[in-house]
Amino acid sequence: MPSPLIPTRLFGIIGHPLGHSLSPLLHNWGFGHFGLPGVYMAWPVAAGRVADFMTAVRLLGIEGVSVTIPHKAAVMEYVDEVTDRARAVGAVNTLFWRDGKLWGENTDVAGFVAPLREISGLPGTALVVGGGGAARAAVAGLGELGVPEIWVTNRTAEKARELARDFGVGCVAWEDRGERAGGLVVNATPLGMLGKNEGLSPMPAGSVGAGAVAYDLVYNPHETAFLRDAAAAGARVIPGLAMFFGQAVEQFRLWTGCELPRAEGMALLRKALYGEGVGA
Ligand code: NAP
Repeated sequence: MPSPLIPTRLFGIIGHPLGHSLSPLLHNWGFGHFGLPGVYMAWPVAAGRVADFMTAVRLLGIEGVSVTIPHKAAVMEYVDEVTDRARAVGAVNTLFWRDGKLWGENTDVAGFVAPLREISGLPGTALVVGGGGAARAAVAGLGELGVPEIWVTNRTAEKARELARDFGVGCVAWEDRGERAGGLVVNATPLGMLGKNEGLSPMPAGSVGAGAVAYDLVYNPHETAFLRDAAAAGARVIPGLAMFFGQAVEQFRLWTGCELPRAEGMALLRKALYGEGVGA
């Protein structure tokens, strides 16, 4: 517990519905780990109350906020500055202060990129499956990494075309996506996620094989059908928890200047999500 003489620094997450977010667990653990007097809360804020919440941020001196669905675009008009990265993605998932100004950033991009910086031999081509916010963050991240050939595909073709236009990348028809799966393949849809989509894969059977890298942004369950099929066919795989941890690391760094330790932080998340005994 922080000393009563040291003012507690206030952080939290807004969204609606918030459901069970892992962010309070991870960030509060981080404050404890570094001995910082911070507390991170969950604030369910309904659509239509964002303006009120943003007044509270300034009034109460809230030092940092994670922003999730459905507020990632709405908060942009209430901050003083938006980073180029968040503007390109069209979404803010983090609020932080610098030199008296309230900034909006998108740390999903840094989170997406983090595990790709660690693999050797990143393929020169990438296919992003999906056309929502996560797909936009992925395409922005691939651009930052300098991947020479980037393709997008989406069930609703117009959204893929718009994403391709916005970022100047290629667009492939949904039914032809298996033909572009020779390099990095990113699942940015909810297919495979626990619940009604569990067991489903975003890619046709046998399309992701040896030489490819399958990166699933879904992190519950740990091993999705997409990753299981790809690994069985000889592809390398990247589970989605690495991105979740990476975006939180970047948030914590923006708020405190401290780097959440990877091994302990990932272990905490794996235990909370999957129970004990799951590999990296
Ligand atoms: P979103 O904005 O709602 O977009 C979802 C996308 O998935 C849309 O393009 C949608 O296609 C497509 N889709 C949904 N159901 C589908 C189906 N049955 N068949 C084919 N396509 C389908 O969601 P998002 O924020 O981008 O998130 C996408 C996924 O990424 C989620 O599973 C989320 O949990 C995950 N994610 C993970 C992290 C992380 O840190 N690991 C971060 C962000 C998101 P249409 O356009 O045709 O509807």
